[in-house]
Amino acid sequence: MSDERDNAPVPVVPLDLPERPFTARNIADFHECPQKFLLSWFVPREETRRFLGGPATLHQALRAALVDCHRLGGPSAAPLVRVQAVFEDAWDGSACADSLEEEQLHTQGLRMLRDYHEAHMSGPATVDVDVRMEIPLGDHRFVAVADAVMRLDDGGLSATRWMSTRNPPSAQQLGESPAWALLYACMQDRYPGEDLSVTMWSLRRSSGHRISFFEDDLQPLLRRLTRVADRIRVATVFPAETGMHCRWCRARSRCPALR
Ligand code: SF4
Repeated sequence: MSDERDNAPVPVVPLDLPERPFTARNIADFHECPQKFLLSWFVPREETRRFLGGPATLHQALRAALVDCHRLGGPSAAPLVRVQAVFEDAWDGSACADSLEEEQLHTQGLRMLRDYHEAHMSGPATVDVDVRMEIPLGDHRFVAVADAVMRLDDGGLSATRWMSTRNPPSAQQLGESPAWALLYACMQDRYPGEDLSVTMWSLRRSSGHRISFFEDDLQPLLRRLTRVADRIRVATVFPAETGMHCRWCRARSRCPALR
């Protein structure tokens, strides 16, 4: 009889990851639990969906609706009925824990879109949507994705990410986050000479934060990413660090520490 643990990769030499750029999430995974990084690197998309559950499904459907909305030019060009129809198409309630969660999240999603649409009817102009940006950092390549890039009224360019979590980051947390620093660095590379910022918009709270980074603050955050990436490149053991975070781990079905 086959043992599912046989599926878990057990490297005895450093991982050969030549072409695939790191994301800030990869780095955070390794920092939190090296085993999570290892398993997540190879985790199938279906398994990710199953373990992140309803909130992830909600976010994906919201993002699909808003990317479509801004591809058309934003709320002033995309009627709410269309935005909500795209949400309905992308919504997959089967990932929810039960029918109650499914109904609650679905209702919340429609409300968040209505609030967003209303709040951004005269918002900034959309420059691009779903923008994937890859840059070299240290001896590695990193990638970050902006949900949308907006041209602000003051002429600046801002990379926006929509969030649907219950506890979105504060402005201070954004400024201390390697993930947001990476997004900013990618913007510098993609749009040189522009007045740049990054924007976190909480769909639940209908409010957000926009920040810029000074180079003196940016570089240490980027070095945190490259230092961990250096360790990943030479790692031969990936110990499991169990804790509360295991509840939301997208690789938990294959985690040897939970068996
Ligand atoms: S379930 Fe916990 S210990 Fe296992 S890989 Fe995920 S975070 Fe690490």
